[in-house]
Amino acid sequence: MNRELLRQLPQIDEVLRQDEVRAAAAEWGHGVAAAYVREAIGALRREILEGGEPEVSARAAARLCLRFARQAEQPSLRPVVNATGVVLHTNLGRAPLCTQAAQAVAQVAQSYNTLEYDPETGRRGSRYSHVEGLLCSLLGCESAMVVNNNAAAVLLVLSTMVSGREAIVSRGELVEIGGSFRVPEIMEMSGGILREVGTTNKTHPADYENAVCERTGAVLKVHTSNYRIMGFTEEVSAQQTAEIAHRFDLPMIYDLGSGAMCDSARAGLGDEPTLAQAMASGADVVTFSGDKLLGGPQAGIIAGKKQWIDRMKKNALTRALRIDKLTLAALEATLRVYRDAELPYSQVPALRMLCMTQAELEERAQTLAQRLQQAGVQCRCVASHGQVGGGSVPTRLLPTFCVEICDGRLSPDALDKRLRARRVPVVGRIAHDRLLLDVRTLLTGDEDIAAAAVTEVFESV
Ligand SMILES: *Cc1c(COP(=O)(O)O)cnc(C)c1O
Repeated sequence: MNRELLRQLPQIDEVLRQDEVRAAAAEWGHGVAAAYVREAIGALRREILEGGEPEVSARAAARLCLRFARQAEQPSLRPVVNATGVVLHTNLGRAPLCTQAAQAVAQVAQSYNTLEYDPETGRRGSRYSHVEGLLCSLLGCESAMVVNNNAAAVLLVLSTMVSGREAIVSRGELVEIGGSFRVPEIMEMSGGILREVGTTNKTHPADYENAVCERTGAVLKVHTSNYRIMGFTEEVSAQQTAEIAHRFDLPMIYDLGSGAMCDSARAGLGDEPTLAQAMASGADVVTFSGDKLLGGPQAGIIAGKKQWIDRMKKNALTRALRIDKLTLAALEATLRVYRDAELPYSQVPALRMLCMTQAELEERAQTLAQRLQQAGVQCRCVASHGQVGGGSVPTRLLPTFCVEICDGRLSPDALDKRLRARRVPVVGRIAHDRLLLDVRTLLTGDEDIAAAAVTEVFESV
């Protein structure tokens, strides 16, 4: 052990006086900076005790301190480059916001606002008023409100419309979304009683009709947004379900989940039911997510008959499920884009990605591949398949183009790990023992980050 070196270790104050550390301390606060300095000096001491001979000047300690800090000062919630090809990646935050929505959030975040204030009358306003008019005109419904997410929306709807009574649901629609939203459990939580009818693969109109009794409160249809039952199947359409419900003077609730406000075919979503169809089915109340196919912020939107929505606004649960001002700002701006028939396809990132043509995708992949090849990375442009994601349209594979890295200097797993360890992680997908970067889900500027990441990772091996 080198006693002389240990004696030479700098004092905390000495390191804090170094220019770079002083500048950083102004940003983080003195206490936080001192903790990093202590950590750095501790690391140097350990190295000496283990027989090492590190440089022990105050400058060296400052450098080490800043290295620790650079790691630790990264926000835990931070941007990543999504090169997975999954457009609505739930683990990567589902839908990225459109520029209009991001600007609206920034504007509202640092100022007071009209959240529950009506500047015209100077009186208290309602947070639900900001998007209700837009939703009503876009969806053609009488009334609408918005809560924290679609799970909350379904809970509130069931609590208001079913509680203490039975809701009839097909056994083919008892969905689980993302391991935490399960129709039977949410029903129980709401105080409603699940009345299952039919079988997993087949449910007939008579199954609903025969289940109606004096305890029945509503008929519920759930869009099986994250799975499909194939083969010998029969499902009662939303329209038929509404007809049956109304014949017995019962309300029909339709949990659509995915919430496409666009033309499904144009967005490459096949026959995915749209909001327009759900509203036209005659459902009394429709619920859907803000951050799935709508491409907005996390939110749960409830649209339908005024008589029901008015009761939901008064439900005590609403206070616990309420939407916050930043989300409302983003949602309002996103919905404004949808007032135009064309704008969403170019402005809403999720829709823009879904609508990309094969030619466009191939060109993007070719360009990225060439860039990497020029930097000495072996790769090529390949045709492949991505997914919509976010529990939407599960059986639909999106034909796409990817950059396949086939450079033997790193295994796909090792490359993937290094790309994920970057300050801005680059997340691709591994298929057939190759790492693929799907260009469909790259946002503006992401190509540069991805290209630099791959190049630097290979330069460092
Ligand atoms: C996604 C989904 C939900 C849950 O919505 P969140 O916004 O994730 O809470 C509920 N029901 C259906 C049918 C869904 O697709």
